[in-house]
Amino acid sequence: MAEANSGVTASCHCGAVTLKAAAAPATLTQCTCSICRRYGAQWAYYSLGDVQVAAEPDALSAYVWGEREIEFLHCTRCGCLTHYESIKKDADGRIAINGRMLAPEAAAGIPLRTFDGAKTWKYLD
Ligand SMILES: [Zn+2]
Repeated sequence: MAEANSGVTASCHCGAVTLKAAAAPATLTQCTCSICRRYGAQWAYYSLGDVQVAAEPDALSAYVWGEREIEFLHCTRCGCLTHYESIKKDADGRIAINGRMLAPEAAAGIPLRTFDGAKTWKYLD
């Protein structure tokens, strides 16, 4: 099947980790919580089954903290934070691609929202 023009591909710097989604995100979200602000991530949210993750052997390392519901995954070679996933891989499972891993042309024009994960748990727009 040919790749749809509307899909997106994200990749870490060295290319060991790539993520593909059939649809481009409507928005990207930067979050003010203690971890997202440090990562500087811009999240594109999907259901777990809607993103294909391809990683070379041992290329992914997970960081888990707090309530231990999601794991942040980064490339062990180049260090880029590529995505996060729900730890429970059930039907409600979520995955978020770090929009910073998209090509600039692919990310251009996608509205960036700010989520106040540090305090109010609301979008600030
Ligand atoms: Zn890499």
